[in-house]
Amino acid sequence: MKFGGTSVADLDRIRNVARHVKREVDAGHEVAVVVSAMAGVTNQLVGWCEQAIVERRIFDAREYDAVVATGEQVTAGLLAITLQDLDVNARSWQGWQVPILTSNAHASARIADIDGAELVNRFKERKEVAVIAGFQGVHEETGRVTTLGRGGSDTSAVAIAAAIRADRCDIYTDVDGVYTTDPRVVPRAQRLDKVAYEEMLELASLGAKVLQVRSVELGMVHNVRIFVRSSFERPEDIDPHRDPPGTLICDESEIMEQQTVTGIAFSRDEAQISIRQVQDKPGVAAAIFGPLAEANINVDMIVQNVSADGKTTDLTFTVPAVDYQRSLDTIEKTRGTISYTRLDGATDVAKISVIGIGMRSHAGVAAEAFKALAERSINIRAITTSEIKFSLLIDAAFTELAVRTLHSLYGLDKS
Ligand code: ADP
Ligand code: ASP
Ligand code: MG
Repeated sequence: MKFGGTSVADLDRIRNVARHVKREVDAGHEVAVVVSAMAGVTNQLVGWCEQAIVERRIFDAREYDAVVATGEQVTAGLLAITLQDLDVNARSWQGWQVPILTSNAHASARIADIDGAELVNRFKERKEVAVIAGFQGVHEETGRVTTLGRGGSDTSAVAIAAAIRADRCDIYTDVDGVYTTDPRVVPRAQRLDKVAYEEMLELASLGAKVLQVRSVELGMVHNVRIFVRSSFERPEDIDPHRDPPGTLICDESEIMEQQTVTGIAFSRDEAQISIRQVQDKPGVAAAIFGPLAEANINVDMIVQNVSADGKTTDLTFTVPAVDYQRSLDTIEKTRGTISYTRLDGATDVAKISVIGIGMRSHAGVAAEAFKALAERSINIRAITTSEIKFSLLIDAAFTELAVRTLHSLYGLDKS
């Protein structure tokens, strides 16, 4: 059972979470619990780290982790206290105590190994519920605290579920499942009963932040059934022997009927860069994208024209908005190797992505979108496609209109 930030936002909600846990224990289930920091706490901790720096531009990621990992420690302790208060035997665990061993990549560490034996034993011997701090781990060699990247408690939960061979990993959050698109933006979005791992990977990596991408990856590799459900239901109203409302993330083979389009994701965290009238000769793309890769900048959509005169062409691509300035600086430095007339950019862009396994066997799905957006005078700046998704880059101002238009176009609106 994993509970996110809004689900543990204050003591009342933590007590509510304790009642959910008690409900499962009373129903005879063996459980382990993973918690996030209280809503807003991680943002505040990150903010402090940023504000602490005035003289130099970079901070030590090891100390960033030492600070931001603390939010989860508080909720793990508080939930253990409230569980004990309800007569449920419980004990909190920090990442290093389990231990959750990770790589050394501070602020975005990867989980290497978890030994779940002790957690399982304690439950079997004395019904002791482990309450584990999400988001954090420890580096095997240095013994230093690491964190898994924003939203990382989902990944902690799926990794723990795999380590203890849980039947299911329930992700309790502030929505009662995964919807066809963000229900906060499109009220007519519908809850999906089942979503295939592959589709959820695309949805998550293209902007649906309901699950961290890495948690879905782990679920797919270790075959953990992930169930997204609401923590706001009253625990007393739930029949533990019946399936509650929610969305199961599972193998494609478990899904009987596949719609062409499953969902729509969007992200405003992109920036567009255009290099005008670049020399059209072999090696130009390598000269531009090589240095960007070396600078660890993830280039996403790439559009290049075939030049009419055989001499120059325009090259457009996207990078994460946080890396926008660094990307421009990196390209400026290539001026000695390649020639171009102008470097343009825009940060007020959004990427809208349409996802569905059914697209594998349906032609013309993207073409319908181009037409529908054109009818609303929404200009498409760049396009990328793959087997089960396509993404369109548009002006950020049209994000909501575009998402709603495509949501109706593909028949996803709730009637
Ligand atoms: P938690 O704090 O529990 O980890 P998050 O805020 O990380 O919760 O994720 C839940 C939020 O994800 C929802 O409130 C919702 O606005 C957003 N979201 C984005 N896309 C979707 C989607 N397709 N389905 C459900 N929720 C979505
Ligand atoms: N508290 C961390 C964050 O806000 C991890 C999480 O909530 O999943 O990113
Ligand atoms: Mg989250």
